[in-house]
Amino acid sequence: MANKRECVFCGNTNLSKEHIFAQWLLKELNIFNNDVLMTHANIAGMPISNRKHAFSKLVNGLVCETCNNGWMSQLEGDCQNHIINLMNMNELETELAFLNEHHETVAKWAFKNVILLNSATNYRHLVPDEHYKELYSGKIPEGVFIDLAFCKSNPTIEWRQTHGGMILKDRNIPFNPNAKRYHITFQIKNLLLKVTYYESLNNTFYEDEGAVRLYPRFGVYGTPKIFDSIDDFDIHGFFHEYKE
Ligand SMILES: [Zn+2]
Repeated sequence: MANKRECVFCGNTNLSKEHIFAQWLLKELNIFNNDVLMTHANIAGMPISNRKHAFSKLVNGLVCETCNNGWMSQLEGDCQNHIINLMNMNELETELAFLNEHHETVAKWAFKNVILLNSATNYRHLVPDEHYKELYSGKIPEGVFIDLAFCKSNPTIEWRQTHGGMILKDRNIPFNPNAKRYHITFQIKNLLLKVTYYESLNNTFYEDEGAVRLYPRFGVYGTPKIFDSIDDFDIHGFFHEYKE
């Protein structure tokens, strides 16, 4: 990521001082002044260190006023009530029907939060710069899969950031150690959201049984599952890489 003080999305320099999460979400979680346990994890997904950071200090500083008050604010408005229902597991039938129709909007909301989380935490920057630009142009990059699930435990907020887990390849596809990849799971109350990306010139598919797929296509894979913890969901699922 560039060190220049400019908006990660559009390049403007009128940076906002807002928190990376929307005010309504901070209020709903009642965490503005609380500390949040930030977990760093290694490539296998096992936590390697836990550090407490003041949650209120997750002020990005890399989003401009125009983005914050424009398309981001619009996206928050479109998703707010639905995310509140989902994270409290309220009116699930209605919300699943909403997701069926508006999965791409909710996927963009999840993607926005996850990539800002990566840019604002001191974990290494896993998300390529061009992914911020693509979201700004209204698209989720190709190769990204976004899933939703529910969790029995409901900590206020947690996340995991890694390079991702296993990839099952066709035998004739060579291993590419330079492929860009990231895997970020995010929990707010009972709601789990996972954004996973693996760069490939072949076809990829992320298999995640029991999750609700928000992107690229809406779908429920198998019987929707309620996961025990964020880690259960984080390590659940794997990529397939295959030729036609
Ligand atoms: Zn901007």
